[in-house]
Amino acid sequence: MPFLSLGLDDRIFKAVQEAGYTEPTPIQAAAIPEILAGHDLIGIAQTGTGKTAAFTLPMLDLLARGAVGRAAGGAGAGQARTRTLVLAPTRELVAQIHENVAAYARHLPLRVATVFGGVSERPQMQALRTGVDLVIATPGRLMDLMGQRCADFSALEFLVLDEADRMLDMGFLPSIRKIVKALPQKRQTLLFSATLSKEIESLTHEFQRHPKTVQIGRRSNPAETVTQIAYEVPKHLKPALLVHLLQDPQMNMVLVFSRTKHGADKITRKLDQVGITSATLHSNRSQNQRLRALKAFKDGEVRVLVATDIAARGIDVDGISHVVNYDFPMHSEDYVHRIGRTGRAQAIGDAISFISSEDYGPLKSLEKFIGRGITRKKAEGFDYNAASTEPREHGQPRPSHQRAKPPVPRDPPARGGQRRGGGWRGGRR
Ligand code: AMP
Repeated sequence: MPFLSLGLDDRIFKAVQEAGYTEPTPIQAAAIPEILAGHDLIGIAQTGTGKTAAFTLPMLDLLARGAVGRAAGGAGAGQARTRTLVLAPTRELVAQIHENVAAYARHLPLRVATVFGGVSERPQMQALRTGVDLVIATPGRLMDLMGQRCADFSALEFLVLDEADRMLDMGFLPSIRKIVKALPQKRQTLLFSATLSKEIESLTHEFQRHPKTVQIGRRSNPAETVTQIAYEVPKHLKPALLVHLLQDPQMNMVLVFSRTKHGADKITRKLDQVGITSATLHSNRSQNQRLRALKAFKDGEVRVLVATDIAARGIDVDGISHVVNYDFPMHSEDYVHRIGRTGRAQAIGDAISFISSEDYGPLKSLEKFIGRGITRKKAEGFDYNAASTEPREHGQPRPSHQRAKPPVPRDPPARGGQRRGGGWRGGRR
């Protein structure tokens, strides 16, 4: 199905073409006509399926389709009244959605505000007060600003709850309830979630009217282009194994997941010691530090990005070659989300998990969850008897006197060589 047949506004269609998309992804093909027809929608799709454009394109179409809010809303000339609102769980996801909006709305004269914590409130308050067509926000900061009467949502027509499951996990439900209460009842509401749990279902009853449901792939179905491997490794050898694996120049853009912020910092220090460039992304870092880290990774200035789960939500970086679960995730959903960072938009990627004795239970649950086994492998050329260069934690075995081979210094490998690029080749999963 070509994009043209969706009947989007010409200026949006032009921007989509300029983005290089040749055809809609399955979620886009299924969701966009329903949204354009004015239905509320439940979208069950994991990241990497093109779900952001699935709600952004019809939302922009609504904004492009004339100044319903501006003309009829009675606000002064030139003063935009906010007609659309997107709520997302993290600052990174807000920034990501904003990037998408900026790309697809490049030929439209729209005013957009992003609202999230960790930075000064003032410019956000000012933007809301001056009037914007579209607000993209995290619930916490938006609640604060609404409490200060900065936002006028009386003309709101369109609400998106993105990654609703994660917003619930993060305890945003009370804020979301308060925000939605302040919106007009007559509006179109879209809800996107990776799973359709009981909690999500009750949320849809609360906020939506006769929603249509569009489901692409199963939550428990990681992208098929991702090769999944588990390396069994004692905890104290994880740093050495990571350094060993990174000797492979194919691992040219690597996202490493740590369970804790402290652990993430430790991994970066270790990589730094052996001359591997890396940056960290976790919630103890300021917004500017996080954006800088992400940019350095995207631009290829650093080869490895070490992140915690929450900070990694919304990361949309093309060409990630490998995801490494340095710490195996406790929840299977997190695993699927993590490895969704590679193999995005049908690029080829690998997901590597380090498995210590404490991870056998979660690994078993995961295999049940995704409906298949994960290949266990020994890392080629890695000396499993080697001593760790890290101090041992309580209860870990004594190191032997051997040491892991230091990495061979090499030129920085070429980036993005694995990416297939181009159009959307994925079928319905
Ligand atoms: P998302 O699931 O929204 O995070 O999108 C995943 C990736 O797919 C992003 O890098 C998008 O730029 C890309 N993408 C979205 N729609 C299309 C499309 N129709 N064709 C090719 N790539 C797309």
